[in-house]
Amino acid sequence: MKVFLASANAKKIREMERILAEHVPDIHVLGIGDVEGYVEPVEDEPTFAGNALLKARAGVAATGLPSVADDSGLCVDALNGMPGVLSARWSGSSKAVEGGRDARNNELLLDQLHDVPDERRGAHFTCAVAWVQPDGRERVVEGRMDGRIIREPRGSGGFGYDVLFVAQEHDAEGLTSAELEPEEKDRISHRGRALRELAPYVAADLAGSAD
Ligand code: IMP
Repeated sequence: MKVFLASANAKKIREMERILAEHVPDIHVLGIGDVEGYVEPVEDEPTFAGNALLKARAGVAATGLPSVADDSGLCVDALNGMPGVLSARWSGSSKAVEGGRDARNNELLLDQLHDVPDERRGAHFTCAVAWVQPDGRERVVEGRMDGRIIREPRGSGGFGYDVLFVAQEHDAEGLTSAELEPEEKDRISHRGRALRELAPYVAADLAGSAD
């Protein structure tokens, strides 16, 4: 059973394969690197679900395979839900910056929240995952991880805003997502939750199409 994941991130592809394999044991997830000349679409929708759908539709058009795509970001209460769909490019679109884009995004976020007191530093990550089949059937699910933004980066795991984010589940110890074991982050993360919700539908649809 082959499905396409519209991502070039090898970690994401293996994570998706692990989660889907619990429902579809013979699943094989192909990524962008497996498709020669793949052109990624511009993610210009205003919602996570819209961008995930746009990417999964492009996957079906390019490969003819049932396709999965995700879109995610950080929504900060004190910033009225921003950076949201602009999370990756919050501090600018250039990838070639000293220290990397993640570091610059985190610096900007800390600066913006400088005067925001601890009790108003709530935030959540959202992840939308879209599943699009070659016959046009579509499904989108969303997962969420609630928490708060701390005042200084901590931890060396994860990526993006993980160094500044303490999930509700680890509030007592004050561990950031960048200080969690990968399995623990998968268990509570927006992406893990959305993928686990989608997996049974993927299994049912693939079983149906194999009839
Ligand atoms: P993408 O949907 O994987 O491209 O993620 C969009 C952006 O949201 C990333 O570049 C990060 O800045 C942020 N983001 C999404 N998920 C996470 C996460 O699990 N931890 C930290 N940052 C994240």
